[in-house]
Amino acid sequence: MDGREHRWFILGASVIPLLGVLASMALLWNKIFTWSDAVVLVIMYAISGFGISTGYHRMLTHRSFETYKPIRVALATAGVMAGQGPPLIWAAHHRKHHRVADKEGDPHSPHLDFPPGFKGTMTGLWHAHLGWLFDEKLTSDPMRYCPDLVREKPLRWLSEHLVLVTAAGCVLPGLLAFAITGGSVTAGLTGMLWGGLVRIFLINHMTYAVNSVGHYFGRRRFETTDESRNVAWLSLPSFGEAWHNNHHAFPRSARHGMKWYEVDLSAILIWSLEKTGLAWKVIRIDPERMEMREAGISRVSGGSTADQAQLLKSQQHLAPLAERRKSDQPTDPTLVDVE
Ligand SMILES: [Zn+2]
Ligand SMILES: [Zn+2]
Repeated sequence: MDGREHRWFILGASVIPLLGVLASMALLWNKIFTWSDAVVLVIMYAISGFGISTGYHRMLTHRSFETYKPIRVALATAGVMAGQGPPLIWAAHHRKHHRVADKEGDPHSPHLDFPPGFKGTMTGLWHAHLGWLFDEKLTSDPMRYCPDLVREKPLRWLSEHLVLVTAAGCVLPGLLAFAITGGSVTAGLTGMLWGGLVRIFLINHMTYAVNSVGHYFGRRRFETTDESRNVAWLSLPSFGEAWHNNHHAFPRSARHGMKWYEVDLSAILIWSLEKTGLAWKVIRIDPERMEMREAGISRVSGGSTADQAQLLKSQQHLAPLAERRKSDQPTDPTLVDVE
């Protein structure tokens, strides 16, 4: 799939679900909404959400854990059904984003080349949200950014059969609704609308909000060289992706929610897979290292330390660890930070 085809796909995957949302609003206005619509919406939202968060992002892009091939293919397929393009291009863009986050070359920073003021802010946020996907100059060659993934035949197949698999993701909820209602054709059709188009609209804007809102509004726990933020209210519907400052501080960590109260559904899924023997090599961050990073002492993935001397003085108990960590260097892929 070349750049032009990718832009057309993203356009279709943005406009058609929007039309679906308008149709669903018309149905709601006429009080046409059944329990099966809600069921397939929730199920398909979960499938495609885990597909993007656990599959595309943590498993493929950052190699946060390993799993058996059928599960790997299933998660990647679920990601394709979200309608965000092929896994190879998604991963390439995202690895590029981490390498130069909020600096020149970042595919979707809301901070670059936008004039100050309200209009510039909104233009930047729109660019980071969805606009960047229509940039004709946008290139993130999978051969350069994710040669490891290009070598995987199932991922190449999914990339080549993108439209088919995405469309299947819209037919599937229709079949499911048809089945669970005992053969109602109407439920099948509205199931395709709610579990297909409306669900794609919701999951896509949730993911895109991590790129836009997650680099603009929210709290910063870790001092990273980018503008990433933790956005608590987005954490549940984004399956934990919205702990985005945590993620930029420790890109390979399988957990993005670093505190017990930071809801991270993807981390729970990976933990469940590990506990049942279906996942291994799950990347965890040493708590000491996390503590140092929070204090601004450690340097990981290019993290800056504004005033190390002062921080070391005030954090004497961490000083020996800081000495040990001086060799931390930002290398690539897939972005360091492993014990
Ligand atoms: Zn980011
Ligand atoms: Zn990432």
